[in-house]
Amino acid sequence: MEARRVRLALQHRIVAILAAAFLPCLGGASHRTKNFVVEASTPEIAKTIAEHAEVCRVSIARAWLGQELPAWPAPCPIKVNLTRGEAGGLTSFGFNRGKVTDQSMTVEGRLDRVLASAIPHEVTHTVFAAYFGGPMPRWADEGASLLSEDQRERNRHDQIVAELLARRGDLPLSRLFRIEEYPSDLMGFYGQGYSISRFLIEMGGRPRFLKFVKDGLNHSWDVSTRTHYGLADVRELDRAWRSWHKVAANDASRDTLVIRAQSGGADEEKVRR
Ligand SMILES: [Zn+2]
Repeated sequence: MEARRVRLALQHRIVAILAAAFLPCLGGASHRTKNFVVEASTPEIAKTIAEHAEVCRVSIARAWLGQELPAWPAPCPIKVNLTRGEAGGLTSFGFNRGKVTDQSMTVEGRLDRVLASAIPHEVTHTVFAAYFGGPMPRWADEGASLLSEDQRERNRHDQIVAELLARRGDLPLSRLFRIEEYPSDLMGFYGQGYSISRFLIEMGGRPRFLKFVKDGLNHSWDVSTRTHYGLADVRELDRAWRSWHKVAANDASRDTLVIRAQSGGADEEKVRR
């Protein structure tokens, strides 16, 4: 009995020592940059992600708006949950009188996937939120944010939309443009939104795309289609996108097949904004 008690006491001491050594990890670490404050499991990871988010914020705002965003009055919190899985994320916004009043972000997945995919995607939402000052139509918000992700994710979504069209699961654009809530076929919805965003941006660039979405949302999608792309209406845009997709999908399908074979678990999907 005596020996057992000693061993237990020793075990307790070892547990206490280990807990003291790893408490900083368990409690998490935080790193603050000008526009982000990141909570992650270690200071190094928090710093890596915060600095990467700042770089993305500059390059993504320049690409879409032609200029950097002004510094935010308060840093955007990012909570990081590293896993062994694919990247996922979520950004929530509060708006008031055409301005973002608060925003916060969570990201998860393997560190390399978080850096290549989740952070650029979520930071793009913050750039759009600043531009729109209110909720952007879902198809455009998600579809265009996917364009900031790495080639692997973009190829995967080319493949998703090819499969969506093959099984006739796509929506007419006149309907897609008006969807306010995420539909049950989330992957198809992301894929179609991504493909249409890519098509419009290849036709006219990023700033024109944002003007098109803003005018479509506030006035009329038909008029906005005519004004910004010279097509008669949304039905004609729908036809043009489908013709373009046949060519684009053929170009992308071979690369995507290779990527799928390498990654195995790439069918996982997370709800993001
Ligand atoms: Zn998203």
